[in-house]
Amino acid sequence: MLQDVHGQSPIMIDQSLLCDHEPTIRVHPCDWENCTMHVALDQKHVSKHLQQRHGVNTSATSENTQKEPCRWLNCIHAQMKPGNMARHVLSAHLGVRWNCQTCGRLYTREDAFRRHTQEKESCQFAKYEISYENGVREICTDGISEGWSIDQNVMCIP
Ligand SMILES: [Zn+2]
Ligand SMILES: [Zn+2]
Ligand SMILES: [Zn+2]
Repeated sequence: MLQDVHGQSPIMIDQSLLCDHEPTIRVHPCDWENCTMHVALDQKHVSKHLQQRHGVNTSATSENTQKEPCRWLNCIHAQMKPGNMARHVLSAHLGVRWNCQTCGRLYTREDAFRRHTQEKESCQFAKYEISYENGVREICTDGISEGWSIDQNVMCIP
């Protein structure tokens, strides 16, 4: 198996990640209870991953939705609505930050950055850079065929 080639566990990712046809994807280990996979640094994907692999109802945001604890390793946050979990994971555990290239301000959410470009005239056409937590790896999706890549030690899980 792949372990024998590299002497380390393969990077396991959701096969659905390949559907977007991005040339590269950035992934980080998922430290959700008992998870051995990697997640991509993308809210849509994290939301899907939490739903599919961890049974979190990530579309539940209504008033009467029961709050649930985040089961990420060492998470100190209080409970939250499952619908807010993906955003929480991205900012609190994956360290995703939107960095305004014009004024240097950092935002934990894309919508906050967008609002900033609307409110601050000098940043109207600002570009952004995204920064992440350590431990992020880039995977080149071209190198993956039939669900795995020996070179990159990557394995896709359907
Ligand atoms: Zn996971
Ligand atoms: Zn958490
Ligand atoms: Zn700015």
